[in-house]
Amino acid sequence: MNQNLKLLTILILCLVANVTFAQEKYVMVIHGGAGTITRKNMTPQKEAAYIAALTKALQTGYDVLKSGKTSLDAVEATIHIMEDSPLFNAGKGSVFTHDGRNEMDAAIMNGKTLMAGAVAGVTTIKNPISAARAVMEKSEHVMMVGPGAELFAKQAGVEIVNPKYFYTKERWDGLQQAIKEDSTKAVLDHGNKKSMKLGTINHDYKFGTVGAVALDQAGNLAAGTSTGGMTNKKYGRVGDSPIIGAGTYANNLTAGISCTGWGEFYIRNVVAHDISALMEYKNLPVAEAAKIVLDKVGKMGGDGGLIALDAKGNVTMPFNTEGMYRGTVTEGGKIEVLIYK
Ligand code: ASP
Repeated sequence: MNQNLKLLTILILCLVANVTFAQEKYVMVIHGGAGTITRKNMTPQKEAAYIAALTKALQTGYDVLKSGKTSLDAVEATIHIMEDSPLFNAGKGSVFTHDGRNEMDAAIMNGKTLMAGAVAGVTTIKNPISAARAVMEKSEHVMMVGPGAELFAKQAGVEIVNPKYFYTKERWDGLQQAIKEDSTKAVLDHGNKKSMKLGTINHDYKFGTVGAVALDQAGNLAAGTSTGGMTNKKYGRVGDSPIIGAGTYANNLTAGISCTGWGEFYIRNVVAHDISALMEYKNLPVAEAAKIVLDKVGKMGGDGGLIALDAKGNVTMPFNTEGMYRGTVTEGGKIEVLIYK
């Protein structure tokens, strides 16, 4: 009898294990920005273009992981695809500053070593994510900005382009619209000198920051984010994306996280690291930790979303906007792309 019980227990354990193994873990998650993305303001062509670009990005990352390369390689390659696409607010297609420039920010982090690299306010680097990686791997620093970052990137062999490369008509028109709305606002404020002088960053003109988190065959996480920031930004404004712990973070003990949204709120809430801290110190599952922190952002008036993937392959993609371009791929290669709520 005892023997039978033992056999039965073993059988049940095997069944449970099988069910667990049958559940495919996620190996990569990406986002292409959060914002007022509704079915109403989307055309079938535009929707198809986004789905195709996100699918291509995921497939690229998946192929890299499948070949046995690292999560850092996958994150960099995936973000390249989105930086090179004019659809996203990163690399080609970045939004314009108030002065009509494209100033880009990017960061990457290695979850195994906690090494990180970032660049901010760069205007000539074709793929800012590669410059961020070069800062992490080829310098003793974590963050470089402006012309210094560009000089370093060039010396590190990262591709440099004419700033004109980043121009797209859609983003240029977005800037004109934002400037127009800004001056209307200044008039409505009865010519309030302060608001006229400072201008405002229109947080509705920021869709398309890109990010990726990957888990490689060795079980290591990496996260990266790349952006043109927010339309009509002034005075060398830098958002959350390149700030380690705010818009980007990775730690094998917890998760890899990449954020998108109104950067000032993500910086003040140290969003990415706060999620990791809840997981590390309070043992919360990744989805619960992400929800708590994003709710905090929302209560303060910040909008956006984030993607997070833990070392066991659990994924979460919460957002408090109308939509967020996002997608996942599992270890079996199953790709899923989503846009709306
Ligand atoms: N978080 C980015 C920034 O504030 C913008 C975005 O994600 O859409 O620069």
